[in-house]
Amino acid sequence: MEKREALDQLTRLVANFTGMVGKRLPDDVTAKLKELSEEETMPMAKMIYEAMEKNQQQAGELNRPSCQDTGLIQMFVRVGSKFPYIDDLSTVLKEAVYKATVEAPLRHNTVETFDEVNTGTNTGTKSPWLYWDIIPGSDKLELDVYMAGGGCSLPGQGKTLMPGEGYEGVVKFVLDIMTSYGLNACPPLLLGIGIGTSIDSAAYMSKRALMRPVGSHNENPRAAQLEDDLAAAIDSIGLGPQGLRGSKSVMGVNIENSSRHPSVISVALNVGCWAHRRGTIIFNSDLSYEMVTHKGVNIDNK
Ligand code: SF4
Repeated sequence: MEKREALDQLTRLVANFTGMVGKRLPDDVTAKLKELSEEETMPMAKMIYEAMEKNQQQAGELNRPSCQDTGLIQMFVRVGSKFPYIDDLSTVLKEAVYKATVEAPLRHNTVETFDEVNTGTNTGTKSPWLYWDIIPGSDKLELDVYMAGGGCSLPGQGKTLMPGEGYEGVVKFVLDIMTSYGLNACPPLLLGIGIGTSIDSAAYMSKRALMRPVGSHNENPRAAQLEDDLAAAIDSIGLGPQGLRGSKSVMGVNIENSSRHPSVISVALNVGCWAHRRGTIIFNSDLSYEMVTHKGVNIDNK
């Protein structure tokens, strides 16, 4: 394939994938919402889960975004050093977001800070926001696309704890946010928590944690236990779907961590709402691809 043709194809596929992510929830989120709906006993909460399911059906039937707020687009890019289009990737991803904005469509959500002008294209200064990882020796491109909505981004916070606050300080930090901002973010929520040695690494890991599947666990058994304990504690608040009370508040809690300075724990929280629009797609060097999060969906001709 000629290079120009290949770049156009990659742009089209990423644009189609991004548009699709706005209309169809990933398989793990759909399954979790179904489970929560079946287990829910409060009539009002059950009704809201049914409305969410109907929303998803209609988004599919009408080919429209499932929430009007299609977010500011953020992407985690893990690109192999031997992926043939690595040099052009930054331009391709920006063009793909613009194309998805026009074709999907996506709501115009990129405002230039300080100038207070909406670009109307969902592209702008450092937008889409890209996190880069170069994978030595690989010829693949692995892409997580995330729609950071206004409501679900609202509870996002970070803090470096005072020495001695320890893991109890982490729990207090998370629960304080959940009891104040949790209901604003359209529960049931997926919590991404980053724990490390400085606020920047904690913030990065907290967003990275939101890319992990619902129901997955941190490989460290103590961290995995904290994930379960925090989920149970937040459930006990009884936020329920859309914050209108219910048996459960969260789809799950995902913790990512790094090693840290002995006297410091930095913790950050990012939140995904019930309409947790994130998708993972893996491209091979010939641009054949696999959609990890959305099985059985066709993005070739949309
Ligand atoms: S929090 Fe999520 S579901 Fe609620 S309005 Fe924002 S993007 Fe939509």
